[in-house]
Amino acid sequence: MTMFGVRSARLGTVPLGSRVPCDLCGRPKLTVAVVGTYFHVLFVPTYPLARRASVGCAHCHRVIPSEAAAPGVKAAAEAVVTRLRVPRTHYLGLAAAVASLLFCAVLGVALLGEPAPAQNTWAPLAAPVAVASPALP
Ligand SMILES: [Zn+2]
Repeated sequence: MTMFGVRSARLGTVPLGSRVPCDLCGRPKLTVAVVGTYFHVLFVPTYPLARRASVGCAHCHRVIPSEAAAPGVKAAAEAVVTRLRVPRTHYLGLAAAVASLLFCAVLGVALLGEPAPAQNTWAPLAAPVAVASPALP
């Protein structure tokens, strides 16, 4: 069990429909699956790292990364990747860290606040005290 690391989650699957045909079988049955990777701490998503897309064909069942696809398919996959947004839950750990820092700052100011003016609690001596020095031999 890792306390922190990188995980991935599916952000969405979008069919390309009849716009772009498969470059292997020629049928327009492509879908783009976008996966987002994020850094997690204790399985809480903290910060999104990257988004990757893969293109799959429902007819010939070929799945390839969008970088390896034909230029037309690659452009359509890139458009899908830019259209799909990273969910806000991937920033949950970062928001919790910022909130805890703000809470600690507010709590520190509230507890410490302005320093109280120094008060002299020592009573002044009424008269100087004469100290007899021992006689030197
Ligand atoms: Zn195909």
